Formats: sequence, C-alpha cells, structure tokens
Amino acid sequence: MANQVVLRSVPQSLSAKFVGSFAYLTVKDRLPTILTKVIDTIHRNKDKFFEEHGEEGVQAEKRAISLLSKLRNELQTDKPVLALTDNVVDTDMWNQYLQRQQALMDDNEPPSWFKSPWLYVECYMYRKIQESLHLNPPICDFDVFKEAKTKSFFESQQPIMAICTYLQELNKNMDDLSETQLLEHFLKLLQVSLWGNKCDLSISAGQDNSQKASPVDSLEDLKPFILVDDSNLVWSVLTNGKIPGGSSKLQGRVDIVLDNAGFELVTDLIFADFLVSSGLASKVCFHGKSMPWFVSDTTKEDFHWTIRQTLAANHKWMSKSGAQWQCYLKDGTWSYYDHSFWTLPHEFCDMAADAPDLYATLQKSDLIFFKGDLNYRKLTSDRDWGHTEPFEKALRGFQPASLCSLRTLKANVQVGLQPGQGENLTAQEPTWMTSGKYAVVQFSSPHREQ
Ligand SMILES: [Mg+2]
Repeated sequence: MANQVVLRSVPQSLSAKFVGSFAYLTVKDRLPTILTKVIDTIHRNKDKFFEEHGEEGVQAEKRAISLLSKLRNELQTDKPVLALTDNVVDTDMWNQYLQRQQALMDDNEPPSWFKSPWLYVECYMYRKIQESLHLNPPICDFDVFKEAKTKSFFESQQPIMAICTYLQELNKNMDDLSETQLLEHFLKLLQVSLWGNKCDLSISAGQDNSQKASPVDSLEDLKPFILVDDSNLVWSVLTNGKIPGGSSKLQGRVDIVLDNAGFELVTDLIFADFLVSSGLASKVCFHGKSMPWFVSDTTKEDFHWTIRQTLAANHKWMSKSGAQWQCYLKDGTWSYYDHSFWTLPHEFCDMAADAPDLYATLQKSDLIFFKGDLNYRKLTSDRDWGHTEPFEKALRGFQPASLCSLRTLKANVQVGLQPGQGENLTAQEPTWMTSGKYAVVQFSSPHREQ
C-alpha cells in the first residue's frame, strides 16, 4: 500500500510513446543510425577478424551483423523487447528487469521499443550490441566504438596540451597559493571538466564532436549557460565547511562516476590531479563502464589507454601529466572500478536494493561527482519532473554521500530550477534541454536542509 502511494507521486517515465517528444525522436532516428554505424564498423573490420581468427572470425562477423540487422528491424517496427540469451554476468539482472517492465505495462502488453521507458530501451540497445558479440566468441572482445573514441582523443590534442600545461604550471606553484587563488583554480578546473562533457559521441550519433579551442580561455564566456551552479557547496564540502581562510581541507575520498572517453576523460583526470595535488582530496576513485556503452563512454581499456597515450605524447607537460597519473594509480592514490550496475538500465534509486555492494562502496566516499547526461537521467529516474522540483526529491532517496552532477543538458529532464527559469528558456530557445549548450553543477547532500 505504502509503495502504491509512492508510485503515484512519481511522474511518468520519459518514453517514445509520447509521439514527437525527444525520447520518440531518439528511438525513431538516432538509435537506428547508431546501429547502422555499428554494423558498418563490424563489416569494415572483416579483414582484421580474418587475420586474427581465420574463417571462424569471418563467420562470427556475419552472424553478429545478422543479429544486429534483426535488432534494428525489431526496433523500427516496435517489436517486443526480448530476454537476453548470452548467459554472462549481468544476463539475469537484465531479464529480471524485463519482467519488472512487463509488470508495469497496461493490459499485459509486452514491453517494446516505442512503449517502454526510453532509459530502459536505450540501455537495452547497447546491451544487445554486446550480446551480438558475446554470442560470437572469436570477436566477443571487439569494441565497436573504439575507433570513434580514439579519433576524439587525437583530434583534441591542442586543448589537451593546453590544459596539461595549465595543470603543470599550477602544480609548480601550488604551495604558494592563497585560499582565494586555490578556489579560483578549483572553479576553473571544475568547469573544464563540466564543459568537457559537451564532447559526447552518442548525441551526435558518432559524428565528430571533438574539442578544438583552448578550454580555460572560454570559461568566462560559458558562465551564463550554467543554469544551476552549486560550486560553492561543493567547495564547502572539500574544505570542511570552513572557508574562507584557515587550512581545513577535507583530504577525504572523492569518487568520479565517469561519462565519455576522449577529451572529456582528460578533463576529468586533470580535475582529479588538481584535487589530489592541492590536498583537497587524498584519494580519487573513478567508476567506468564494464562494456562499450553509449558510443563514447569510458571503459577500463579506454581509461588506461588514455593515460598511456598522454604519457607517450611528444609534449613535455602532457607527458609529465601522464607519468604522474601512472604513479597515482600505482601507489593507490587513484583507483578504477567498473561495477556492472553502471551498464544496467536501473534508476539510481534502485541501487541500494539491487547493487547493495556498490551502494556501500559509494557510502564510503566524501563527495561523488556524476558526469554527464545518462548519469543525470538515472539520478532523476528519467521522469517527467517539473523544472522547479527539488533535486533531492528527484533523487528519490538515492544519497549514498554528498553528490554533485556535472552535466551538459542533452535530454529533456531538468530539475532544481528557479520558478519561471524553465519557461523563459523554452520561450527563447525551445531546444535548451537537448542542445548541449547549457549545463548544471547540481549538488545534494545528506545533511542539506530540504
Ligand atoms: Mg556518454
């Protein structure tokens, strides 16, 4: 009974069933385009599969493509979502979730691409891409998005050099900085990491989305586009609430739940380096994806590849940054985790019940950054909230520690705005929630007044 009361007070999930909505357009246009690109990528790597696995590799390529073509057809014709059959570590969780979705349908209709929640079916598509490879063992480790992620990294070399230089200059003078100067640099690097989130390949359906300009120089111009800016609350947590003045840094543990590889990941590493070298944090835990995900998301392989590439760069400050990051990983100052929950379709309010081990891990953190749009959608359950609903309400009890979303807006859910702010934006710029032009630094704490 209590459960029913709670359910009734939660808005509907965004879904392609609302014709004309952003969810509808995504499922109708963007997801099939991404599937077509995946099919093309696998096909273009036919020779590589032959070299590595002989005729068996070519047969695997054909079977994977046939499964993906079938998937694209099922998507476009709104067929039921089917149970997974690949029998890997998360298969049961996915199939149980399908049953939960079934229970939510009216008239016993099956869950389907255009009728079920958008968050669920979009995650499911990426998991099905993995299934098509898992079912064809010789090529099961192939990352269909690797080329795009690598390209994004190499095409962003200029800004990467610029921020590595900025970081190394800063590290040289770190001990001489006043509290006010430290705060200034903190805000800059927080914003570099925030705007790094613009570079998302799933939103451009894999099109080039790399960063060209020097990131630190453009921050001032971008400030008006930050719709919610709780940076001062984030700073307050990191300095134990005793700013300004005094040396009362928290020196605790910060977690960063990553979004995209390529340029964005470098901005996150730079920010994490600053947190440690300034003494604001003693430890940073990164959380990435355990499979290729939403085109550009960071996997373990991407994480280590990026650090190796930075170290190997023919640029003094880039290389020095990479060397420092290797040291942080070796001595345990930094660590990387890829819990399978991050690639499930669950709303984060389900984490405590469905992934209690991960929830317990996050409870040990002093501050968790959630990068990007998908994390924001999962934080807010991807529902049709009014723009003035408090962030805490949309979290629906998910509060393992103090947390902060660093997100450029690419999906139509946004809470915690001032009265009239959303309406004004809609009147001026109807696509403000999906263009990636606007951003939020949105904070919530278990101790914050509600
Ligand atoms: Mg992403």
